Amino acid sequence: MVSADLLGAARAIESQIAEDRRRIHSHPELAYEEEETSSLVRTRLEELGIPFLSGLAKTGVVATIKGDLGDGRCLLLRADMDALPIDERSGVRFASQIPGVMHACGHDAHTAMLLGAARLLLDRRTGFAGTVKLMFQPAEEGAGGAPRMIEAGVLTDPPVDAAFALHVRPNLAAGKVSCSPGPQLAGADVFTITIAGRGGHAAEPQTTVDAVVVGAQVVLALQTLVAREVDPKASAVLTLGTFNAGERFNVIADRAVIKGTIRSLDSELFLHLEQRIREVATGVASALRATAHVDLIGRCPPLVNDASMAEYLAASARSLLGPDSVVAAKPEMWAEDFAFVLERIPGAMLWLGVKSSDWPQPKAIHTPEFDLDESALPIGTSALAGVALDYLTRA
Ligand SMILES: [Zn+2]
Ligand SMILES: [Zn+2]
Repeated sequence: MVSADLLGAARAIESQIAEDRRRIHSHPELAYEEEETSSLVRTRLEELGIPFLSGLAKTGVVATIKGDLGDGRCLLLRADMDALPIDERSGVRFASQIPGVMHACGHDAHTAMLLGAARLLLDRRTGFAGTVKLMFQPAEEGAGGAPRMIEAGVLTDPPVDAAFALHVRPNLAAGKVSCSPGPQLAGADVFTITIAGRGGHAAEPQTTVDAVVVGAQVVLALQTLVAREVDPKASAVLTLGTFNAGERFNVIADRAVIKGTIRSLDSELFLHLEQRIREVATGVASALRATAHVDLIGRCPPLVNDASMAEYLAASARSLLGPDSVVAAKPEMWAEDFAFVLERIPGAMLWLGVKSSDWPQPKAIHTPEFDLDESALPIGTSALAGVALDYLTRA
């Protein structure tokens, strides 16, 4: 392990990391609109003299740092740059200056920390062989940023052998990190069910196929999928978030549109649920003389840490932060599109604790109150740089 002095080195540049994070935080940008954020990333890379490609997946940037000891393996570190359509109420003095847009998932911190890790790695390039790729991606929040970066070639030339990322975790104390093998985050899918019946006068139901009644039956039938078809020891959720049908009290609706999402930590179960949503919706509609069309869009697979890479990342963090700082954490049912990278490349995601000891309750991500304890910034920065150095210097 070569990471012993890295935490101190990260603390020495902590003010720069925090300054970048606050600048990004106060100018949040939605998916594929990360122009200022991408520009800041490019400026910092230029200042450091690190070569990069830009314009991948619109605003994405990929930088490469080559070790002075020659050819070797290639490791990828990822940060995401996009914000969320949320009106900030965190009360921090560097809060969003853009109404209705907020960094409520910590991507401002992820980007600033990866820039900090770039500095640490550049300063140590005489000590490793091979290449570190720094992936600054757009549109993590359900808009396909990672798959578009993969299509644009981020995992090739040179081919990536291992991939790591971190994500802030609001219910984990600042100072702690967590990395476990196996599924860490759910797969997620968004679906739309469109039911087509036949409209008519409220007083003449015999001439119609009522899309409201058919839709109601579809809603109830879908409730049985998780309740009756999923092993109770497994994790899955199916939520129907919207149901829209009809315009008037005395007109039988010809159409109903239901939108929902499924989540599961298990890839096979996830595919089973996708298939069964189609079968149940179309089967119930057909039995009631209507038709149902199911569109599944925006699939993100479960995020699964490779067992040996997770242990590698955890061991690196233990050597850097001390054994007590690396703790166990349960999987969450959120989704994260770093899962697309981990489908192809062995790697792992680290949870970075960001809950301040001054807060009685965690400040949850994806809420207007989200905030993070900035004392975690040098910890995350050094953890990213540390695992890269450990990986590229190992025998
Ligand atoms: Zn998020
Ligand atoms: Zn996120």
